[in-house]
Amino acid sequence: MAAADDEDPVVVRGSHGTGRSTAALRACCTLAARGHSVRLPYVESSSAEFVERSLATIAEGEHIRPRNGQVNPTVNARMTTECTIIGGGIQGVSTGLLLEHVGVDTQLVSEDFAYLNGEDVPTVASNYASASIYPVAVETDIADDELIRQCEESFLPFYETAGIPVRKQTHYYLYEQSQGEDFTVPPRMDAQHISSYRKPIPSRSGETVSDGYVCSEYMVEMPEYMPLLFEAYTQAGGTMTRRSVSQAEIGGFSTDYLINCSGYGSRTLFDDSSMRAIKGHILEVPHDSDRPLEFSYTYTPREYSHYAYMYPRKETIVFDGSYLAGDIVDGDWEGESPTNPVTVDGVEIPERLLTVNRDVMRNHLQFSDDDVAVKYGYRPYREDGLRVEKSGDIIHNYGHGGAGVSLSWLSAKWASEYVTEIPRQVLGQIASRLGQLNRTQGWSHADALSSS
Ligand SMILES: Cc1cc2nc3c(=O)[nH]c(=O)nc-3n(C[C@H](O)[C@H](O)[C@H](O)COP(=O)(O)OP(=O)(O)OC[C@H]3O[C@@H](n4cnc5c(N)ncnc54)[C@H](O)[C@@H]3O)c2cc1C
Repeated sequence: MAAADDEDPVVVRGSHGTGRSTAALRACCTLAARGHSVRLPYVESSSAEFVERSLATIAEGEHIRPRNGQVNPTVNARMTTECTIIGGGIQGVSTGLLLEHVGVDTQLVSEDFAYLNGEDVPTVASNYASASIYPVAVETDIADDELIRQCEESFLPFYETAGIPVRKQTHYYLYEQSQGEDFTVPPRMDAQHISSYRKPIPSRSGETVSDGYVCSEYMVEMPEYMPLLFEAYTQAGGTMTRRSVSQAEIGGFSTDYLINCSGYGSRTLFDDSSMRAIKGHILEVPHDSDRPLEFSYTYTPREYSHYAYMYPRKETIVFDGSYLAGDIVDGDWEGESPTNPVTVDGVEIPERLLTVNRDVMRNHLQFSDDDVAVKYGYRPYREDGLRVEKSGDIIHNYGHGGAGVSLSWLSAKWASEYVTEIPRQVLGQIASRLGQLNRTQGWSHADALSSS
């Protein structure tokens, strides 16, 4: 009743019986523990833990059925649990996809769905993320270095699986001014201080970079990644409804749990006055090339107290680096204004985003102000810290500031663990599904860049 990989199947004959001690069950678990893919009537997995749980569930007479005709490797006995998730940004869809994957029925309800609505909605932060896997502007209980490590680790399966628009590139984190003896290189992927780096480093003309480091960084191609997540979510059985939820409706949903992934919307929906909207400008310059540039940077010029950064996308180069704190009152932005403002594409932006980036990029990209399209979005920053916790029947997952993409799988997992047990290998399994789904759309690692 079980077979190891197709190339060289091992067939275990006989019934698995009704107990955990049966010979068939033990054989299946041993094969799985050795890395074989074990195929049961409705389950395919290489996790000994999962095989054991699946067999035990079948033995108890519960039917484990594939959803939508597909084999679901992680279905379990909690298939009847139902969740309503408020929010159509990266948190909402990542949490929904993860829960659907483990057999929980979910529905996404949101005023807007990132990258699906068409028009830009600044309060939907996921529309604007650059999106590097490096958490900034977020408060958590986890030490910064550990948070970076966990974020990078959570994206490893998505990077390693062909067909997912997540790539790895060289990132330069640079200062023109020396940062003093206390400066340490963070434990990021392949990080090294620039003093030991022998290749050319981006810099402004006539200026020298004195401090900083070079590392590898995962980068998510959001215009492709977000629609892919939504597609995988609906294919897994999730439903999406576009509408606004009012405060009066909270408590009126008939599902077992309500999961709040409404980002900045939590300020109104849950009276959370510690929510702030951190305005960030995105400058997009067309980049006509077969493949994205091979590097990105975060660059702090001598005369400014803040950096400007550059990230390549497939068809554009993105400049950013503004963090203006404020609130949205009656739909209008009330907050800090840029120092040294210039107006580009009708929008007032901090001058350095244009001038510093233009100078650093002079050997890679020539452009006039007319070529630049400017947008702005609001990072959902929570002064009281990232909130992933259960309060009654409501599970909160919001307040990710400038780190919502970086933290997406981690916080989706933390939030989902309030609903059901989440197997350790779940992210690898979801990555496999996303990869399979997107292969027909023609994206592959061959299109992307490896780090130099
Ligand atoms: C310029 C910029 C650059 C960024 N760069 C990065 C980066 O490089 N790396 C990174 O990790 N992060 C980055 N971020 C941060 C990241 O975009 C956010 O942290 C993340 O998108 C937050 O996701 P979310 O799903 O919590 O919120 P959102 O994407 O804001 O989604 C919230 C959703 O809730 C819905 N909603 C709200 N209220 C209601 C209601 N009452 N009823 C129904 N629906 C409601 C909204 O319509 C929306 O769909 C950046 C952000 C900006 C603005």
